[in-house]
Amino acid sequence: MLGGLRISLGIVAVACAMGCSAGGNKSNVTSGSVAAAGPVIAPQDKAPAPQQTGGFDGQRAYDYTAKLVSFGPRPSGSDAIKKTQDYISGELRADGCQIDEDNFNAQTPIGTLAMKNIVAKVPGTGKNVILLLTHYDTVRTTPNFVGAEDGGSSTGLMLEAARLLCGKKQPVAIWMAFLDGEEAMVDWNQNNDHTYGSRQMAANLELTGQLKNIKAVILVDMIGQKGLHISKDSYSTPWLTDLVWSTAAKLGYQNVFVPQTSSTEDDHQPFLAKGLAAVDLIDLNDYINEGYWHTAQDTMDKISPKSLAIVGHVVLASVDELEKKFSQ
Ligand SMILES: [Zn+2]
Repeated sequence: MLGGLRISLGIVAVACAMGCSAGGNKSNVTSGSVAAAGPVIAPQDKAPAPQQTGGFDGQRAYDYTAKLVSFGPRPSGSDAIKKTQDYISGELRADGCQIDEDNFNAQTPIGTLAMKNIVAKVPGTGKNVILLLTHYDTVRTTPNFVGAEDGGSSTGLMLEAARLLCGKKQPVAIWMAFLDGEEAMVDWNQNNDHTYGSRQMAANLELTGQLKNIKAVILVDMIGQKGLHISKDSYSTPWLTDLVWSTAAKLGYQNVFVPQTSSTEDDHQPFLAKGLAAVDLIDLNDYINEGYWHTAQDTMDKISPKSLAIVGHVVLASVDELEKKFSQ
């Protein structure tokens, strides 16, 4: 993702404690309890027991992320992203999710690319919908880019959220969209070369008359890094931002959901442009300051199961608050 950053947060020193090693991670999430081989997790980065984070299992979200990274660079239209799509859909089906897949062709500066949005849908009792978003593609302009944080972490979080939510009837429907084509194929700042999947989905919702049912959109992107600080995105809808930040504060996460603001262009914008309430949860600033953003250094040793657990907890608790607000 890319953004016009206006306020930078302080640089957070990230120590790769206890022997980090990058790459080559394999995990077997489907079979449940198999630990991922990969970087050693430092004690301060270990996920709390799931019952301490609303049932959300940060280690499991980390293992999903490691599996995604094991497919290698996953730019739109690549063989690796096809494997990624099959993996995401397979996990969602195994978790009892109802899935809609939207295959579409995107006109990009490097030609027409086949892309796919995958939407897991948990039914509600009325028409209202809460929409959660992640992108799963990785940027193609950096060689050997595996996107542990940018494309991986938020998708790992969403797979864990789907595991918890699918098959459980909700007062308000919850849709979890795994979006393709967030990243630029050549240059974010030219030719509208970004957010292909989210623009496709927002346009479809409008065409099919479903926009009015979407009561809130929560986007997660780059939320698994060590030393995580999520600042308030100034493009995002104020009441929804306040709801998420006050939920985080009630859970004691003021040190992660910080009061500073920044501005980030991202997949929430096509939904904002259609008049929907949307919020982007992202820590781009720290990752840029560390020198990892859109570099081959965006690897699993930068990821903290604890950060994933905290954001997963806040997203689930925010969904609960939204369900209270919009149940019919
Ligand atoms: Zn990116």
